[in-house]
Amino acid sequence: MQVNIKTLIDDRQCYETVRELRWPEGCQCPFCDSKRVIKRGFNEKEPAKQRYACKDCGKRFDDLTDTIFAGHHQPLKVWILCLYFMGLNLSNRQIAQELDLDRTDVQKMTTQLRESVVKKSHQ
Ligand SMILES: [Zn+2]
Repeated sequence: MQVNIKTLIDDRQCYETVRELRWPEGCQCPFCDSKRVIKRGFNEKEPAKQRYACKDCGKRFDDLTDTIFAGHHQPLKVWILCLYFMGLNLSNRQIAQELDLDRTDVQKMTTQLRESVVKKSHQ
C-alpha cells in the first residue's frame, strides 16, 4: 500500500502558508500597499481562499492575487509540497517523482519558487 502525501495535506494550511510567505507583517493591498484591508468571505470554488477588498483603492483581491500560484494549473498544495521538498534538498527529479509531475514542470516551479512567490508587476 502506498501513501500519497497530497491526500494528507490540508488546503486551509496551504493558504495559511501563502499568507505568511507573502504578508509576514499582515495583509496588504497588492495594488497600493495599503494595510486598510477588509475580508470579503471566501472563494466559492476554493473555500480556503480568502478574498479581500482594499479600503483605500477599492480594488478586490485574494490570497493568490499577484503570486506565482495564481492562474496556474497546479493546485496550491502541489506548490506548497514542492516548497517543502526543496527545503529537504530533494532534486527536481525526486520532487517530480514524489508529486507525480513532469520533470520540466517541476524545474519551472522550483525556479519560480527560488526567485519569489510574489510577482513585482505593481512596483
Ligand atoms: Zn489598495
